[in-house]
Amino acid sequence: MKRSFAAFIFIISLSAAALAASGKQPAPPGSFQGAPPQYTRFSTAELMRGFLALTFGSDLRIGAVPRGIRRFDHPIRVAVIASGSVDRAAAMQRVLDEYAQKVPNLRLSIAAGTAPADIEVRLIDEKDFTSALRAAFGAKITKTFVARTDPQCMTSVKSSADGGIVRAVSFIIVDKGDDVFLDCAYHELLHAFGLSSHDQRNPWTSLNQKRMVGYLSDYDRALLTLLYDPRIQPGLTARQARARLPRLILDLGLVAPAQGK
Ligand SMILES: [Zn+2]
Repeated sequence: MKRSFAAFIFIISLSAAALAASGKQPAPPGSFQGAPPQYTRFSTAELMRGFLALTFGSDLRIGAVPRGIRRFDHPIRVAVIASGSVDRAAAMQRVLDEYAQKVPNLRLSIAAGTAPADIEVRLIDEKDFTSALRAAFGAKITKTFVARTDPQCMTSVKSSADGGIVRAVSFIIVDKGDDVFLDCAYHELLHAFGLSSHDQRNPWTSLNQKRMVGYLSDYDRALLTLLYDPRIQPGLTARQARARLPRLILDLGLVAPAQGK
């Protein structure tokens, strides 16, 4: 009796291992020194967990509770407004190019000249962070937000009642080193695209505030690819998203090959 109990435990732990993320790889070239390695293969459950935790909710909400998924439902134009003491405009451009290339459904481009942009990326020095927030959102909201979250960088996303993102503004610190800049640049763009929340217990996403990642991980790319699939429309509820995700993850080839059935 005792022996069969031990065998049972063994089988449970084997199947748990088969579900874990795999394909560990070092941080890609161009990452800051000391950037964490990443896993490159995930199970359906691991991708669903991240998607459902990160697409719903946010740190600070103003106005009506959004009903469901928020994302852009048209091509996204980004403007980079550089005013900090360290010139990171070209580096920011490379980050945007990477998102555009790796997640084609974003239909991401740089706004030409003074053309109106869907996402405004403001590159600033740390000392100007609070005053930039005040100018954008007013003193009261800034005070509440800073007191609640002690942010290093931040993104504000305005969406309509049907879930379409109308406009996003990201503030990114440029004068505190490569690690802070890269971590903020990749992290804040994920928010601007509609992954609005954080998950401090998810070990794979850049939207875990206990981690500094500074590159577009395979995990976050997979979540964005799901969010911008035509079958995940703005306004979709968590229940609807949960029902569609397993099929979508398989169709998009996002699941680890060993568990592809
Ligand atoms: Zn964040």
